[in-house]
Amino acid sequence: MPKVYLKTYGCQMNERDSEQVAQMFVERGFTVTPEAEEADVVLMNTCSVRDQAEQKAIGRMNYLGKHRKTNPNIVYGFMGCMAQSRGEELIKQSPHVDLVAGTQKYHRVVDHCVELMRAKEEAKMDDLRRSIVDIDEEEESQNTIRDHVDKEHGVSEFVSIMQGCNMKCTFCIVPYTRGPERARPIPEIVDEIRRLTDQGVREVTLLGQIVNLYGRHEFPKVDDKSPFVQLLEAVHEIDDIKRIRFTSPHPIGYKEDVIKAFTYLPKLVDHVHFPMQSGSNQILKRMHRPYKAERFIEICDKMKEARPGIAISTDIIVGFPGESEEDYLASKKAVEHVQFDQAYIFRYSQRKDTPAAEMDGQLPERVKEERNQDLLKTVNEIVERKNHAHVGGTYEVLCEGPSRYNKEKLSGRTRTNRIVIFEGDADRMAGQLFDVKINECTGHTLYGDPVLH
Ligand code: SF4
Repeated sequence: MPKVYLKTYGCQMNERDSEQVAQMFVERGFTVTPEAEEADVVLMNTCSVRDQAEQKAIGRMNYLGKHRKTNPNIVYGFMGCMAQSRGEELIKQSPHVDLVAGTQKYHRVVDHCVELMRAKEEAKMDDLRRSIVDIDEEEESQNTIRDHVDKEHGVSEFVSIMQGCNMKCTFCIVPYTRGPERARPIPEIVDEIRRLTDQGVREVTLLGQIVNLYGRHEFPKVDDKSPFVQLLEAVHEIDDIKRIRFTSPHPIGYKEDVIKAFTYLPKLVDHVHFPMQSGSNQILKRMHRPYKAERFIEICDKMKEARPGIAISTDIIVGFPGESEEDYLASKKAVEHVQFDQAYIFRYSQRKDTPAAEMDGQLPERVKEERNQDLLKTVNEIVERKNHAHVGGTYEVLCEGPSRYNKEKLSGRTRTNRIVIFEGDADRMAGQLFDVKINECTGHTLYGDPVLH
């Protein structure tokens, strides 16, 4: 049985796409191996968010090129955002690479690899030395990300609801690598989730670059509800689904219907990841993020009204070109106002082929690092205080199975997305919702005892 090795770099979207590709290989009689040296096909799903991510994938691919000595028919391939943005150039840079497949071609990867393997076996390759570069746009490609590999204790799954983004934030490469927004039809998403519940899945995370703008170009509003809220309601109807999460929303998609949904859809968890990026209107304008910091804060306040106790996490970039001390302090002030339950701070780094990389006002690394450390300190004080406030309380947890870091223990998450570690029997408790009494907290993790009735 032929073997495929699949290495994924980057975001949750890439993880989800890699899983689809893995399942397609399994359906064609391959096994997925974690060992590149025993593979017949070596694939990298790549990320372009920073140059460093690209160099890492190219370095790894060049290193693995050595296996061709022991397996002359091995097929090497790049997929994903870097494949999309660099295309043919990657073959020149890494001559042992046979395939470059873009972000709208995941569903063609298996065919390409089987064709390349056959050509090598029939020794047709030597004279031709042919490679495949497939990076064109393809209609309906968003509808091909719908299958999952079987997993033990697969309780929580990501479900891709759309691909691409039209927003064009000046620091971001995604619109150029993932193309325009394309949404999957609601019935197909619901069908996929029903199939997942048959495999024991009880929680889904709806995935997209800007999920709350889902279907804005394809599907009509119904009863003044956006396609995204229609989707949330349809998923909410699925009995065996206990929890619904989504990532990443965009402030301009947070209309009243989305906020209201938190008042009548209890399966929607008490957590949203809501990227702010900056608390300064001057910087939001330079980022081409079409909202004011006041509006972002207003949405957070409205979310807290709609769902008391909701946890809000965010992404913030410090050191964006032209960011003055005053601009930075506006971001810090926003953090102190919203009291985020978690915040991921990124020091701005120039990304080739993005408008921000050419902007004036690029800041020295020293200044970026100072602001990064200062904001991290503020964020961590808030996060730890909020986490410690859980000690002594009892919280509903969805058990996800053995803990990643300690197989003797089980782990799960609260509705506010906090990780909880506890004792128990995975076969009996995975996928179950039950209360856990918290008796300890270390920074970002809670520890407790299940309250079994
Ligand atoms: S919303 Fe902005 S940051 Fe997010 S994927 Fe789209 S362009 Fe990139």
